[in-house]
Amino acid sequence: MPLLRDFFIQLSENQLLNNAAQKYGLKLGAQSVVAGTNIEEAIESMKELNRLGISCTVDNLGEFVYEKSEAIKAKDEILAVIEAIHENGIDSHISVKPSQVGLDIDYDFCYDNLMEIVGKAHQYNMHVNFDQETYDRLQPTFELMEKISETYDNIGTVIQAYFFNAKENIEKYKDYRLRLVKGAYKESAEVAYQDKLDIDLNFIELIEYHLLHGKFTSIATHDHNVINHVKQFVKDHNISKDKFEFQMLYGFRKEMQLELAKEGYNFCTYVPFGSDWYGYFMRRLAERPQNINLVTKQVFNKKTNTVLGVAAAAFILGRLTKRNK
Ligand SMILES: Cc1cc2nc3c(=O)[nH]c(=O)nc-3n(C[C@H](O)[C@H](O)[C@H](O)COP(=O)(O)OP(=O)(O)OC[C@H]3O[C@@H](n4cnc5c(N)ncnc54)[C@H](O)[C@@H]3O)c2cc1C
Repeated sequence: MPLLRDFFIQLSENQLLNNAAQKYGLKLGAQSVVAGTNIEEAIESMKELNRLGISCTVDNLGEFVYEKSEAIKAKDEILAVIEAIHENGIDSHISVKPSQVGLDIDYDFCYDNLMEIVGKAHQYNMHVNFDQETYDRLQPTFELMEKISETYDNIGTVIQAYFFNAKENIEKYKDYRLRLVKGAYKESAEVAYQDKLDIDLNFIELIEYHLLHGKFTSIATHDHNVINHVKQFVKDHNISKDKFEFQMLYGFRKEMQLELAKEGYNFCTYVPFGSDWYGYFMRRLAERPQNINLVTKQVFNKKTNTVLGVAAAAFILGRLTKRNK
């Protein structure tokens, strides 16, 4: 399984395939987990979720941003999303990846873009979450959040449980609204736990810490064991439901999403949309290769399955051969 994970992570980082995917619209089953390619479609999906008692956080997908013009375009699109959420009276906040608005180009330029986004959202009393990405972007993202919070208070970020320094960071940033996750990227053994059990145990520890000591906690997971643990923990510690929410990704474990909302828990669905869906989709396959079956059952034809199967086999064989050398 770790080999398959590496395979999909490598695919997610392939810019050529990313460019190709953008040209062909939502394919390979991505339409099950991406809420459309434009704002209108995303708004309709969010209306439906709101109707079911579920709030949203919306992510205007975007990867491989190396030109200022691309970052400005992404920023303008996010501003338009904020406006559309407000106009349509949608219960949603914003998730933004700093790299999408220029973190890999120039720190100050990224700061200006984020200030504009957070300022606009602030006008409408809307929260903005800075999604966390790879380890090299972790510290700059925390710093951007700290700097912007000198002006605005409607921001928070993500703590990824696979990092050794997650505990240190959650203590440092406990007064922010935080989303807690296991972590989605491939990170080295120098900075991150590699073993699933270590990650899961750290995740639980972080959740308990933030529920007891922190501001609002978003527990973002599809893991029923973690969710059941949280339900019992909040009961045992008398933590009220307005102190936390569960979050899941659009299209995943839909019945459980509804169930949790019906049980009276705050529930928030992460709604990604846009033509730049490829990297996001590949990371979902990396997390759980069974997602191939879950999301593509109806739309994968035999030929595509074979191509992907052969590519995966070639990758794995290549890795095994390398290892044996
Ligand atoms: C709302 C949200 C926002 C996120 N934001 C970020 C971010 O900013 N940065 C980041 O690095 N990562 C982010 N992630 C991804 C996260 O880090 C994990 O990679 C991802 O959630 C997979 O881990 P998991 O906790 O869901 O459980 P896993 O460890 O993937 O799964 C645990 C168990 O749960 C069950 N399970 C899981 N998925 C399913 C399913 N679809 N159907 C049936 N059973 C299932 C299986 O039994 C599985 O063994 C986010 C995730 C969510 C949900």
